[in-house]
Amino acid sequence: MNNILFVASECAPFIKTGGLADVVGSLPQELKQNEKQEVRVILPLYDEMDEEWKSRMEYLVTFDVEIGWRIQEAHLFTLTYNQITYYFISNDFYFTRKGIYGYYDDGERFVYFSHAVIEALKHMDFRPQILHGHDWQTGIAIALANIKQPIKDMKTVFTIHNIKYQGVMPVDIFEDFFQLGREHISGMEWNGMLNCLKAALFHADKITTVSPSYAEEIKEPFYSEGLDPILSERSKDLIGIINGIDMKEYNPVTDPSLFVNYRSARLKKRENRIKLQQKIGLPYKEDSPLYVIITRLVEQKGLHLVQHILEEFLNEDIQFIVLGTGEPEFEGYFSDIASRYPDKAAALITFDEAIARQLYASADFFLMPSKFEPCGLSQLIALQYKTIPIVRETGGLKDTITPFNVLTGEGNGFSFTNYNAHDLLHVLYYSLELYNRPDEWQQLYKNITKNQFSWKESARQYVALYDSLLPELIYG
Ligand code: ADP
Repeated sequence: MNNILFVASECAPFIKTGGLADVVGSLPQELKQNEKQEVRVILPLYDEMDEEWKSRMEYLVTFDVEIGWRIQEAHLFTLTYNQITYYFISNDFYFTRKGIYGYYDDGERFVYFSHAVIEALKHMDFRPQILHGHDWQTGIAIALANIKQPIKDMKTVFTIHNIKYQGVMPVDIFEDFFQLGREHISGMEWNGMLNCLKAALFHADKITTVSPSYAEEIKEPFYSEGLDPILSERSKDLIGIINGIDMKEYNPVTDPSLFVNYRSARLKKRENRIKLQQKIGLPYKEDSPLYVIITRLVEQKGLHLVQHILEEFLNEDIQFIVLGTGEPEFEGYFSDIASRYPDKAAALITFDEAIARQLYASADFFLMPSKFEPCGLSQLIALQYKTIPIVRETGGLKDTITPFNVLTGEGNGFSFTNYNAHDLLHVLYYSLELYNRPDEWQQLYKNITKNQFSWKESARQYVALYDSLLPELIYG
């Protein structure tokens, strides 16, 4: 049996701000299909979580966590859901706040969480052979696992879901946060700052990221956010494993959020669209295809390109809906567009899981022109709901979306290469043209109904990676 403990800052269905939560929520479900894996997950217990989850948690123990010279308490809770055991670390000072990120002391909050995870290993009736951390919030847990060896021979895996977020703090807080010799600074420091992501890249036994293309891209300065030297150094321990999605969770045949369930019928997608547009007050236009964006409203998602060309594209016979929250610049821009084009565009500035699913179901096209995209789940969810993705060829978008080729009839979407607004506009016009050519549109639609991006193959690759770290289990 391989005992694996996932460490993460978010996990669906308990708490979610983006794709990380989907992955941490669904990968253990697939891994458990292989009886050799016992995967458990440890998370912070945020005030923001639904009362329903909190009321189902069982209290285990309270223990002290040393952060440098200070002592903070941690209360450990557990919950079993879909046959996976979850642990939650509660601390009023760090996690009883609105939302989950965006505080001046986020660095300290997740350094605390990392210390608490290492301490919790002594208090749970589970001895992981592999500690598998996800993103910068868990980087220090990976470093401490290597430095302190809380469990003999425990190995570490670290997955980069997004290299842009690194958890950077002034290096002089080292002594405040750690009772460690100064020789450990260099492994956690980058460009004169304490860097949680770098700490994990330095200390982890194996590093993964969420698509093969992104694994290559982040060795180059354009994508590496400054960390290419260390990734090049560690390249033999770095692999890209594409994310899957939970096919049961995102299934238009059974999704309870939809107005009308369907397998592939376009007419039923239409019914969803009519009801959704009624609900949000955007008049439905029979012959205008619907283009949607569902995302965190941040620069990464290629929104500057959209800003450049959207009004020009709105001259065409189309409708457009955006769902998202994020940077004020983009929230303001899309709200303004919606107020100036009330018959054509709507902006839903909110985070709402049910509306997201209704939109995936209603749309004809899903727009994702990202500047960079480690994997991207939204384009895969769109395919599940029979919505055609339009993407930029980068990272996981490049690995999952093949541009439709009119000559061969192959492909599952539309794409463009350069980060250029008019290349995006060009591909939007092209998508509209094909939408109005019944034979080709029919072919493209047929292609996407065959698409499957389940976790099966990727989970197999994770198991192989774990096995490679635990050779005694194979040979012993
Ligand atoms: P990222 O992790 O960079 O945010 P992904 O494409 O990997 O991007 O995953 C985004 C996930 O978050 C998808 O499940 C998407 O549907 C969901 N999502 C993004 N914005 C919203 C929103 N405003 N409301 C509901 N769900 C959202």
